[in-house]
Amino acid sequence: MKFDYLIVGAGFAGSVLAERIATQLNKKVLIVDKRFHIGGNCYDYTDDNGILVHQYGPHIFHTQAKKVWDYLSQFTEWHPYFHRVLADVEGIKVPVPFNFNSLYKVFPEGYASKLEALLLEKYGFGLKVPILKLMENDNKDLKFLADYIYKHVFVGYTMKQWGLKPEEIDFSVTARVPVYTSRDDRYFQDTYQGIPQKGYTKIFEKLLSHPNIHVLLKTDYKDIIEDIKFDKMIYTGALDTFFDKIHGELPYRSLIFDFKSYNQTKFQEVAQVNYPNSHDYTRITEFRHFLPSESNKTTIAKEYPTNYKEGLNDPYYPIPNDENHKRYELYKKEAEKLNNVFFVGRLAEYKYYNMDQIVGVALMEFEKNISK
Ligand code: FAD
Ligand code: UDP
Repeated sequence: MKFDYLIVGAGFAGSVLAERIATQLNKKVLIVDKRFHIGGNCYDYTDDNGILVHQYGPHIFHTQAKKVWDYLSQFTEWHPYFHRVLADVEGIKVPVPFNFNSLYKVFPEGYASKLEALLLEKYGFGLKVPILKLMENDNKDLKFLADYIYKHVFVGYTMKQWGLKPEEIDFSVTARVPVYTSRDDRYFQDTYQGIPQKGYTKIFEKLLSHPNIHVLLKTDYKDIIEDIKFDKMIYTGALDTFFDKIHGELPYRSLIFDFKSYNQTKFQEVAQVNYPNSHDYTRITEFRHFLPSESNKTTIAKEYPTNYKEGLNDPYYPIPNDENHKRYELYKKEAEKLNNVFFVGRLAEYKYYNMDQIVGVALMEFEKNISK
């Protein structure tokens, strides 16, 4: 059998493109993934305790893009959920992103109120200030506050997560969790937020259930590429691996997830608690906060960051900094020479994309380059 497209990777990038190509162009697709399941890093499943867990860490859907929300809403209903995160700061659980509520948790009321007034005067209400920007302050109290947040929320967490200090990694990384001049404790302020009512894997089952789509799991594309016939390829795996690392290694960070279950209905107050300065793990996720559950047990996962080594673990995060960006550009030039291969996705584009961005990028790739 001959396929019009070979798609490598059944995460959001590959699965959205498979769905578009099959349903809109009526073309035949073979989608291949190394793993035993579809869904890429968004894969979830119901564990022995009856709790839907995210195999690769907490996945919360949030977006400003109505187009992306509407597209995915064809494949799922949404459970309304607003993510709230607490960070353990010297034993006190403090809302993160650090906001006015956090101030009152860690400082005496009088001083917290002085800092709140200073932040309002300098930035106004509802502004998101990246920690590295806040540190540029010359006001003595605001500088003290910035140093406090840097020390208690950012530096330890970032060292664990990336093996680098906040200033050694692209500014945009710590800017994902800015200081927020507000009382809003939610982790995201996007218009559209939620958890798929039946989980993420069900979305992927629907995306891929079309007679034009053939799914092949537990298969590295390199092992079958000589044996199958296809016209074009869409590649969503690691970019350097595709080119046999001719320009050297593009580094990624990986994680080890340690799952544990308890005979109790609650382990922690919110779905995610961060541990910037204690323990070797960065955060604990308790999954039953995401979706209602009848279970009388609970399941948590601790995340231990580590370097990615091909063949040993999975590449989860590109590491955005100047050196890696330059290397990526060398690979991008190689990619541009190949007319019949499209490179799409968090690994293939070496970008710290969220789910909604990946879906948006895949839809755009389809409209601009594939359907033409
Ligand atoms: P992936 O999901 O990584 O899929 C790529 C697939 O390609 C993989 O399944 C892989 O097995 C396969 N593959 C690679 N090489 C080969 C090969 N040679 N042969 C066959 N198959 C291959 N985003 C959010 O919006 N909200 C969140 O809360 C959130 N939390 C996250 C938490 C963690 C810990 C991580 C790691 C990511 C999180 N994300 C979150 C980001 C989200 O996971 C990604 O945006 C999304 O999964 C990217 O989709 P993708 O298709 O590009 O890549
Ligand atoms: N971060 C931090 N302390 C926190 C939360 C986040 O230092 O309590 C920094 C850290 O560098 C992290 C980055 O902000 O990698 C982005 O955090 P986010 O929660 O977006 O990470 P993700 O969920 O993508 O792993």
